[in-house]
Order: sequence, then structure tokens, then C-alpha cells
Amino acid sequence: MIRYPFLDLAKVTASYACELKEACNRVIDSGRYVGGEEVETFETMLASSCGAAYAVGVANGLDALRLILRGYVELGEMKPGDEVIVPSNTYIATVLAVTDMGLTPVFVEPSLVTMNIDDTLIEAAVTPRTRAILTVHLYGQPAYSRLMRDIAARHGLKVIEDNAQAIGASVDGMSTGHLGDAAAFSFYPTKNIGAIGDAGAVTTDDSRLADAVRALANYGSSRRYHNIYQGYNSRLDTIQAAMLKVRLARLEEETEGRRAIAAVYGGNIVNDRVILPAEVTGRHVWHQYVVRVADRDRFRAYMLDHGVGTDVNYPLSPHRQPCYKEYSGLSLPIADKLAAEVVSLPVNPACTSPDDALAISEIVNNYRND
Ligand SMILES: *Cc1c(COP(=O)(O)O)cnc(C)c1O
Repeated sequence: MIRYPFLDLAKVTASYACELKEACNRVIDSGRYVGGEEVETFETMLASSCGAAYAVGVANGLDALRLILRGYVELGEMKPGDEVIVPSNTYIATVLAVTDMGLTPVFVEPSLVTMNIDDTLIEAAVTPRTRAILTVHLYGQPAYSRLMRDIAARHGLKVIEDNAQAIGASVDGMSTGHLGDAAAFSFYPTKNIGAIGDAGAVTTDDSRLADAVRALANYGSSRRYHNIYQGYNSRLDTIQAAMLKVRLARLEEETEGRRAIAAVYGGNIVNDRVILPAEVTGRHVWHQYVVRVADRDRFRAYMLDHGVGTDVNYPLSPHRQPCYKEYSGLSLPIADKLAAEVVSLPVNPACTSPDDALAISEIVNNYRND
């Protein structure tokens, strides 16, 4: 029996149910179902939550990334065939956005400590065709540093943040989503701030990029029936904006809840066989609490036997995916090692209490693989 589920979305939603239902009814009654005031208010809230000048609501996180890159293509900042540096251990969407624009991903290995791109390896990967560093704040820990900023400045590269997992995170008081030139957010239901369906956003201080993204997401049109780009339909639904306003208003509460659970794990798990994650680059918002265990399958079976649900984010890195056969020959041993060893423990504060985290820590401490 699962005593400690990994994630129960119905339970997450239940803790916001009254407000969500009220907001839902408001939208139903309004007669406005795509865009409108709910979307504008949400965009304003999101921009101010991270300090960016502009936020544009879009249909999902993958589209947010695609729209940023396509926006830069339309603005003449990059063109198909150019290179974009990405971490080798990211979620597939990061890479899909790059290849979808005809850009070439250049994989840089992560650090085993941060599990984020190893910024000491970035400069060696820069070529005359490199246009951007697409940094991913994986698991909620910021992947941004002065070194990364300096390399980008030295080579004239854009820094694009994949902030799908790190809303509320920060480095030296600067929020993710406002560290580089543009950032993509996902509000997929399992993310720290989740919609009741798919949703995403782009933030930037660059008004030209914001305008391009907004137009591209609306068939390439900024004026009705006048199309300046061959665009997409990737707008944010009014109902999702209304849901997200409810969730975003409680971002700090959500983040503190996650941090409290991570602190229980960090302070109580002691087992030679289990390597704990480190909060080293800034404020970690613990989208996932990811430990490393050499004999992962056995560990997961043991946890399940003791009533603890776990997950693996992610079992196969992008260069190992069947859709990317052209990259299967690359040697990316750190990404492979992480893919083989990572295990995520329950960390959603709506499903896991600090007491649960303490009980789970004890179960982890009793794990022996001999
Ligand atoms: C979830 C996620 C995405 C994609 O977001 P969707 O809203 O699911 O399209 C992109 N990058 C990362 C790192 C993610 O975790």
C-alpha cells in the first residue's frame, strides 16, 4: 500500500479548490475565453513576481521556448543552423524547442554536485555559430552564474532560461525568469505553479522580443487580420490565467512548503548509499528532491515496499532518445550517470507533510543493498 504517494494532483488542487472554482465560474460567466483581462492581470503578476518588464502568456512551456527562439530568428538574432548550448541532462522539451527551429543543440555536461550545466565547460563549447546558452534551472535550482554571464557577454550570446521548474528561485536576490535575456515558464499541472491543464509564459525585458512572441503566438498578428509573421496559435486560455492567478498569489507559501520538506530530508537522511542534492547556486525551490543511488531499481522497489512512491526525472537523456539518433554517438557520461542514478522523493507540500518527510527519511536510512 502506498502510504506516501509521490504526487497526488487532486490533493494539490483541493488545497486551492474554493478559490479555483470561484475563478472558474467568473470566467464562465464573463463570455471571454481566450485572452482578455484575466490574462493581462496574470501577466502583470508574473512579470512583477520575477522583476521582468514583460510577461506573455502562452499555451505551454515547450511553446514558450519555441516562441523565444522563433522570436530571435524573426529579429535576426539567430538563424537555422546556428548553435544553442544546452545541458546534456535536461528534459526533452528544452532540446525539442532548439531542433524545431532548425537550430543545433550543443550538449554541455552537468556538474554532479548541482546537476545543472557545468558552467566551467561552457566556453570550450562555444564556436563562431553559437548564438545562445539555453540554461535549465533543473529540479528548481538556479543554473546561472557570473561566469555564465561573462562567457555570454564575451561571445555575444543570448542567455535563455528554461524556468519550467524554478519559478520563485533566485541568485543573489535576482529571480529566475529575470536572470538572462528571456525565460520560458511552464504551468503544466505538476510544476510548482500548475494550471488545470497546459499553460506557459515568456518573460523578458526586451520589448521587441515580447512583441514578437505575442504576435507569433497569435498567428503572427499584432493587429487583427494583419499578419507580419507566419505564426502559431499558442495563446493562454482565459480560464488557465484565472487558475494561475490563484496559484501565483500563493507562490511563496508553495515554495516555503517545498523548502521545509527538503530541509527535513537534508537534515535527516544519512545513508552511504544515497547521495543527497545540494543547494549551492542560490535559492532552490525544490521542484524535485532528487537523490542519487547506484542501484536505483532496487532502491525504488524497497521504497515502494515501504509505502513510498518515487519517480525518476529522467531515465533517458535527450541524446539517448530514439528521436535523436543523430546524437546517440555523443559521449556524455555524466548525463548517462545521472540518468542511471537519479530518484525523486515526494516533495509536494500538499501531499507530503514535514512529518511524512521525517518518516520517509527513516525509511531511506534503513535501506541496505547488501
Ligand atoms: C515541463 C518542462 C518543459 C515543458 O513544459 P510543458 O508546459 O510541459 O510544455 C520544458 N522544460 C522543462 C525543464 C520542463 O520541466
